[in-house]
Amino acid sequence: MSGTGGQAARAELSAIGQALAILGDRWVLLILQRAFLLRIRTFAGWRGSLGISESVLATRLKELVEHGIFELSAYRDGRTRYEYRLTERGLELWALLVAIHSWERDWADRGLSPLMHNLCGEDARPYLGCGTCREPMSARDTHTEQGPLATFSRIGPPRRHRRTVRPGVEPDLIDYCPASMEILGDRWSTTVLAAAFLGTRRFVDFQSSLGIAPSVLTDRLRRFVELDVFDARPDGSYRLTDRGLAFFEVFAFLVDWAQRELPAPEGSALAITHKPCGAALDPVLLCTACAQPLRRREVHFVLDRQGTQ
Ligand SMILES: [Zn+2]
Ligand SMILES: [Zn+2]
Repeated sequence: MSGTGGQAARAELSAIGQALAILGDRWVLLILQRAFLLRIRTFAGWRGSLGISESVLATRLKELVEHGIFELSAYRDGRTRYEYRLTERGLELWALLVAIHSWERDWADRGLSPLMHNLCGEDARPYLGCGTCREPMSARDTHTEQGPLATFSRIGPPRRHRRTVRPGVEPDLIDYCPASMEILGDRWSTTVLAAAFLGTRRFVDFQSSLGIAPSVLTDRLRRFVELDVFDARPDGSYRLTDRGLAFFEVFAFLVDWAQRELPAPEGSALAITHKPCGAALDPVLLCTACAQPLRRREVHFVLDRQGTQ
């Protein structure tokens, strides 16, 4: 793999392939999470909140602006300063981030902050639903058809900083758990998981459909087994565990966002349908308490849990 080609190569990618290339990075996820949760908008804000190096932060913010997720906005504070505002496209990632939080709360066994639903006043405990029939939706009751050109391969070489843990920094209440970071914070991992949702089971099939180096694939499969996302079967196949299958909630929003927001060649899309009602994928987060769809402006996280105990 040459690692060159940049824009030209990217234009050939399916929308999902592009989304994985943009979002499959732990720093990007943390930058976005802080933007939504803590309303951080400035370079200094992220640097202080994340303990991230200035060069890495500058690169990630530049890329997020190029991909139309943030826009630079000037304001006066004695002199002209700039802040990064989420665009409409960026704001649309809200549901994806809530889905990650929801999966972690259900499966990572951590005391995460509740997400309060303003409409009913209850802890929403969101679950994935179908926007058409409003019934729950899982990986098992969806059907996926790949377009003739649908491919996740050629997503470009992974970033070199993958899977580094900040030494000496304790995870705080809003940090992602290691499992989500390993699944989503690395583009090859996310790609392997996406292929599993599409029914890929065997090493050779992952390898041929993704064009992934055997050593990289071996490493990701081993980690997914350790993380209880995949189950290694005696026949050599890898099956999603219940924990892995539940990650479909996150995957559904990734696919939905990618295919709505990112231009891609014709024939490269995935057509996912909700089998019980036959409607095309239209994921929504539903409130466990009142069963209504959650909207961005109608929920809030309770972040002061530690302070109130
Ligand atoms: Zn439905
Ligand atoms: Zn509610």
